[in-house]
Amino acid sequence: MIFEDLIYKTKLFFHFVKFALKYWQTVGGLEQAKKEKMKERFIVPKLGKKNYDLIIIGCGPAGLAAAIYAARQKLDFCVISKDIGGQTNINTYPIENYLGYHYITGVELEQKFEEHLKDFNVDIKSEEIKKIAQIKNGFNIATSSSMYFTKALLVASGRVNQTLNVPGELDFQGRGVSFCAHCDGPLFKNKVVAVIGGGRSGLDSASQLVNLASKVYLVELSGEIKHLGPTMEYVKNNPKIEILTKTKPLEISGDQVVRGITVSQNGKERKMNVDAVFVNIGYKPSTEFLKGVVKMNERDEIIIDKNNHTSISGIFAAGDCTVIGEKQVSVAAGEGAQAFIAASEYLTRLKGKNKEIVAKVYGTRQESGL
Ligand SMILES: Cc1cc2nc3c(=O)[nH]c(=O)nc-3n(C[C@H](O)[C@H](O)[C@H](O)COP(=O)(O)OP(=O)(O)OC[C@H]3O[C@@H](n4cnc5c(N)ncnc54)[C@H](O)[C@@H]3O)c2cc1C
Repeated sequence: MIFEDLIYKTKLFFHFVKFALKYWQTVGGLEQAKKEKMKERFIVPKLGKKNYDLIIIGCGPAGLAAAIYAARQKLDFCVISKDIGGQTNINTYPIENYLGYHYITGVELEQKFEEHLKDFNVDIKSEEIKKIAQIKNGFNIATSSSMYFTKALLVASGRVNQTLNVPGELDFQGRGVSFCAHCDGPLFKNKVVAVIGGGRSGLDSASQLVNLASKVYLVELSGEIKHLGPTMEYVKNNPKIEILTKTKPLEISGDQVVRGITVSQNGKERKMNVDAVFVNIGYKPSTEFLKGVVKMNERDEIIIDKNNHTSISGIFAAGDCTVIGEKQVSVAAGEGAQAFIAASEYLTRLKGKNKEIVAKVYGTRQESGL
């Protein structure tokens, strides 16, 4: 009898363990699946997230201008950026077209921006934005190290120029290698320059530079100049422009400054004496993290309306990452200020304080068809 009772109790115990195991696996599995799903949309528990009214992405001229406006309004905001200064920081050439400064390098101008920012206690986080997701009442932001929630977002992430990756290109940046004819062309008056790239931006550069330089080499990798239209006709018919097709840059050389470029033309090596090399083989907007969230054009530039609204209510964009025609410091700073004003109006609208502003904001969005 005692023996039978023992067997019965042992069986009961094993049944219980089996049941407990199964329960643990099922609930545990469900929990795991739930966690995975949360991770996917990165809806993490509120405790792990920092909340703001506005997050500004990028610390180039556009983001910095927006940050100064936001700080003066004492908004609950932060700036998240990989660096401070953006493209101005890699520009050792003088900038002669920024109001108030006759002659200042990009790096010096960036230092001025930073000094100005120090007057306000701006919270700048040195992180890289990885992903953005729209959720109820705002946006979740995943960076290289943190999670954030914000009611509104101002994207000023700029762009990066495509590079040739040939010897000398990096060493001579700011000493003869340039990515911007608008910006640096006037420094090479009556000099010989080479423009790399026979697409739209290369042709634009060549047509601008030819008015300043004594000679322009236009170097194109393929067998023809691709961009059609009046600029091409102008470039083709200009005796000061020599077009080199099927030509690949091999090396940029010089001493203190650029003195020459070696190319492979139809398989033969040729060295030309030049004072500057303008690299115009395209650029890449830094908008990867917003893909599938807001509307972009075929070049991955963010589409905005005249008041810097994107296709998603609550996301605003400014500067070189957008479709604006001219990519310049003064344009980016102006756009940053304008985008902030739009974002601030949006936040006011969220608080339901000003019905007139609501109407205005919707008006501009509808006008632009976004
Ligand atoms: C060599 C050179 C010379 C130039 N010369 C002139 C000139 O003489 N005059 C002139 O007016 N303009 C000039 N320009 C152009 C001018 O610098 C740009 O138009 C201007 O910097 C654009 O400002 P922005 O704020 O829109 O973007 P950017 O300056 O590109 O700044 C973008 C910011 O976003 C950040 N960012 C990007 N992706 C992420 C991410 N995933 N996570 C976090 N942060 C991110 C970057 O770190 C950076 O801080 C020059 C540009 C170059 C490259």
